[in-house]
Amino acid sequence: MNASMVFPLRQFAFARGQLDRAAHLRDHADKLAALRARPDAGCYVMQREGMVLRKTDNGLNPMLPYALAKTLPVDSLEIFLGLRGETPLFALPLRRGAEENFNHAGLELSDLRPLATQGLLSHDDLSPLAEAKSLIGWHRRHGFCANCGTPSTPTSAGWRRDCAKCDIQHFPRTDPVAIMLVTDGDTCLLGRSARFASNMWSCLAGFVEPGESIEDAVRREVLEEAGIVCGEVSYFASQPWPYPSSLMIGCVARALTQEITIDPAELEGARWFTRAEAQAMLENRHAEGLTAPNPFAIAHHLLTDWVRNGDS
Ligand SMILES: [Zn+2]
Repeated sequence: MNASMVFPLRQFAFARGQLDRAAHLRDHADKLAALRARPDAGCYVMQREGMVLRKTDNGLNPMLPYALAKTLPVDSLEIFLGLRGETPLFALPLRRGAEENFNHAGLELSDLRPLATQGLLSHDDLSPLAEAKSLIGWHRRHGFCANCGTPSTPTSAGWRRDCAKCDIQHFPRTDPVAIMLVTDGDTCLLGRSARFASNMWSCLAGFVEPGESIEDAVRREVLEEAGIVCGEVSYFASQPWPYPSSLMIGCVARALTQEITIDPAELEGARWFTRAEAQAMLENRHAEGLTAPNPFAIAHHLLTDWVRNGDS
């Protein structure tokens, strides 16, 4: 039975994984070799912020036949991403500097984020692309053992790095970020960071710190950034965010106070919006021209759900 038949899956970018990661195959060189040799084996060839795309009659496709991917200037590092149905999927990083003179018939390079934002990639591809981007970025930033400083070696089909000197295994990291819609009856709190597109307002967000629960992180971030005290915090949904390897944990928080005091180092502004205003922002018809994040981001879905259902 497909998971979507059991759970109502939301269409978040990066979050709708239909891939079986097949972790039990990662340490079997013979089985991986057989998967690579399959004529339907697919591969994403990644560069720092993007990937190689194949021009097809149906547009741009980021999944290349594995055999074609291996003809490109790629690193020896290989990630086994999993199985989509029977089809094995791998990821290979383009060699550093290879993007400079990248000239291969029918192929081009593009950054991931603009294509994902504009909805030009399928959800079937976005989830493994997030997996590939996060993992390859981790390998690039963690070439040395954090315990003794010796160069470490990728193993387990790209899911671990081992240090031969001190015999320690290093696992890829995921950084939890709490992103929250603060509500107070028929109003919600949105903020603006200086790096946002002009006129866009969104949910507040911040990293969960070591030793902190998600709920405490939500209350701390809202207090630090906007001076609002929150009570009840409830979980909404999560979204992998491969920039470089975050997990956005969407929450709804009930405000206990209303007076806003922003931290100017974090926010340019924060204000309360009515439900009608939030709806107008989502539909791009706000009287002041203010907008909310597009469906690419979990903030859009937090806001949409509240506009539709309120503090349920
Ligand atoms: Zn070591």
